[in-house]
Amino acid sequence: MKALPRIPLAALPTPVQPLPRLSEELGFTLLVKRDDLTGLAFGGNKVRKLEYLLADAQAQGADMVVTTGAAQSNHCRQTAGAAAKLGLGCHLVLTTPRRPSGNLLLDGLLGARVTWAAPKARAQALAQAVAEEAAQGRRPYRIPYGGSSPLGAAAYAYALEELLSQGVTPDTIVFASSSGGTQAGLVAGARLLGFRGRILGISIQEPAPTLREQVAVLASQTAALLGTPTTFRDTEIFVRDAYAKAGYGVVTDAEINAILRFARAEGLFLDPVYTGRAAAALLDLAAQGDFAPQETVLFWHTGGTPALFATDYAQTLAAAA
Ligand SMILES: *Cc1c(COP(=O)(O)O)cnc(C)c1O
Repeated sequence: MKALPRIPLAALPTPVQPLPRLSEELGFTLLVKRDDLTGLAFGGNKVRKLEYLLADAQAQGADMVVTTGAAQSNHCRQTAGAAAKLGLGCHLVLTTPRRPSGNLLLDGLLGARVTWAAPKARAQALAQAVAEEAAQGRRPYRIPYGGSSPLGAAAYAYALEELLSQGVTPDTIVFASSSGGTQAGLVAGARLLGFRGRILGISIQEPAPTLREQVAVLASQTAALLGTPTTFRDTEIFVRDAYAKAGYGVVTDAEINAILRFARAEGLFLDPVYTGRAAAALLDLAAQGDFAPQETVLFWHTGGTPALFATDYAQTLAAAA
């Protein structure tokens, strides 16, 4: 794969760890890739993407970044952290409802400027924020929702290369898939590196056909950026959407059970919005016999744990603990 310009921000490689007690309970080998430990501003998968996005921002002479997400966005928190570390300004366009959250607190501590928009007005509000900053003499760099441009997604092709260099070749990789950049990067990387395992995205929000289509397009663009133009069809993209129907950020018994099970069996924290939902799907697939006893399944932990301390989630979880 072509090497793209990068600013080191993450603590890499992230560890791959066995989950022996859960493996024993589930009847197959379960590993975890700890991208919750990428290190910057409480870590998560967006730090990897930001290494490439912010290299591009600096190459373009930007002195600040503008991006968008939900009130409890992990992407926005990690962007604010990376901007602070590089001495760049940061303007976050967050979508309502405006709820107190762990990440929103951290955005403020990191010095980000926050403005609010209705979800439907997100794209327009982002464009407006960029224009407003430029009008005030700043040089803003726009980072898309979830950092999921081909450049951001490329970070996960390199992340797959990192995993393989750790001597780990799982049969299946399971992870939370939302804006699709993580999945697109893994899928593009798999093709370029000859990895033949199953890459199974658990949709957080979108119906499976929508996310599949989105990932196929982004994976094709990402492969081209990495120097090997390749066309992916949506039929080659694996997505499960059983829990997306509850809605984005809605915590059901499935997420609560997954959070408690991983915490109590392995001392490992998942988050209520992304990894808790992905782990719930993994546990469900395991219960349905989707994984064979000789299989090695890798759960790619994408971060998000500050959301455990969002007021609403903390209350729900405290009631279940
Ligand atoms: C953003 C995020 C995801 C989804 O990654 P995408 O690249 O947007 O699909 C998964 N887990 C966590 C914790 C995230 O913050």
